[in-house]
Amino acid sequence: MKLYNTLSKKVEEFIPNTPGEVKIYTCGPTVYHYAHIGNLRTYISEDVMEKGFKYLGYHVDRVMNITDVGHLVGDGDTGEDKMAVASKRENKSSKEIAKFYTDCFFEDCEKLNIRKPDVVSAATDNVEMYIQMIEKLIQDGYAYLSDGNVYFDTTKFPSYYELSGRNQDDLMVAVREDISEDQAKKNPFDFGLWFTNSKFNDQEMQWDSPWGRGYPGWHIECSGISIKYLGEKLDIHCGAEDAIFPHHTNEIAQSEAYLGHKWCNYWVHLGFLNDESGKMSKSSGEFLTISLLEKKGYHPLSYRYLCLNSYYHNQLSFSFDILDGAEKAYFKLKNKVLKLKKDEVNESDKVKYIEEFKSYIEDDFNTSNMVTLLYTILKDDSLSDGTKYSLIEEFDGVLSLDLTKEEETSIDSDMDQMIQEKIKERQEAKKNKDFALADQIRDELLSQGIRLVDTREGTTYELL
Ligand code: AMP
Ligand code: ZN
Repeated sequence: MKLYNTLSKKVEEFIPNTPGEVKIYTCGPTVYHYAHIGNLRTYISEDVMEKGFKYLGYHVDRVMNITDVGHLVGDGDTGEDKMAVASKRENKSSKEIAKFYTDCFFEDCEKLNIRKPDVVSAATDNVEMYIQMIEKLIQDGYAYLSDGNVYFDTTKFPSYYELSGRNQDDLMVAVREDISEDQAKKNPFDFGLWFTNSKFNDQEMQWDSPWGRGYPGWHIECSGISIKYLGEKLDIHCGAEDAIFPHHTNEIAQSEAYLGHKWCNYWVHLGFLNDESGKMSKSSGEFLTISLLEKKGYHPLSYRYLCLNSYYHNQLSFSFDILDGAEKAYFKLKNKVLKLKKDEVNESDKVKYIEEFKSYIEDDFNTSNMVTLLYTILKDDSLSDGTKYSLIEEFDGVLSLDLTKEEETSIDSDMDQMIQEKIKERQEAKKNKDFALADQIRDELLSQGIRLVDTREGTTYELL
């Protein structure tokens, strides 16, 4: 099993702490707004990872947090808590905001066939764990109290810059706007473990602590929840590439300082989804959600199909043209699968394809090759329809594209509607003697495997 590890900046052989078992921690959503399709790309990739490991026979323990406190507007401990921003925006309590957007997040996940991890834990449910960790970090000299807050002293952790692969000066330039002006910090990259009223005193969610009433920093939440539910040794920690610094860098520092040994062996970072205007972000307020795609008439799984056709470490540019193409290809693929006869299954014919599918999982989750393999299977004339169906059904356990699921509202009818519209457009073009446009429409459909057939009664079509 090969995995790209941000820690070594190399593709490495994956060796779990316990043979046959994988412990995975996934940074969960900050529930102050709807998840955008960029966030959801990250969760789709992590979902394939979990299902892929299971398909290879591993036992997977996966934990995800829900960030419902402590994630400040600025990653360098500046600005308000994002939950407080949402409370003001919507005139609701932080608790109400968290509940609403957590439910929305899991509804989106369901639409995209993203399995809910075995353990999902809200940051606000684990405060005693953070307090216990912070107490030990202070005792051991890694953390200090200043101006009522507790900070981690990054100079006490020599490998602090390892994950980001940058030195301090380099980082200072790279993240200039994120560096806090906080005078209470001894060093620019020190980060907050616990804030009290001395900072952001209008914070709604607060708890008693040995350092006064206050609330935890964002980074300690993921370390605390991971160690509490997955133990002292973690195999894989996931998140998108924006989390490398400071979030995951800080997680490593505080977790290893607390535990006194190496914590997580593999750091997997997922590539960003960008839109035409650049990075998609919740804080900008302008972003695409799955519900919005649905409102525009897209099937949510067309978006999953789009994501699976790219390498998960690479950035992906989103456009509606690309989504249109993905939707057509997805419908076509699904139609082909649903048309297969459920005849005899030849188990021995399946073996080489199963091996090939596994080799793509083992090749750092090469999902685009997994999808391409489905087309190869469909084209293989030596396989019975039943064997093809059985293989695709099995692989769809990892890809989760519902390829063998009959839709309540038939996908056929969506596709039919699209083709009928094109036929009308072509007729219109012919009427206007724009034969170039008419031919272009015909050729475009042909390139999608749809052949138009002109008859005396009108134009029909056949799927190739
Ligand atoms: P947040 O809700 O902001 O805490 O982010 C939830 C997850 O989505 C984290 O793993 C982020 O790193 C990830 N993420 C944020 N923006 C994007 C994006 N544009 N593309 C992919 N993943 C993202
Ligand atoms: Zn996290």
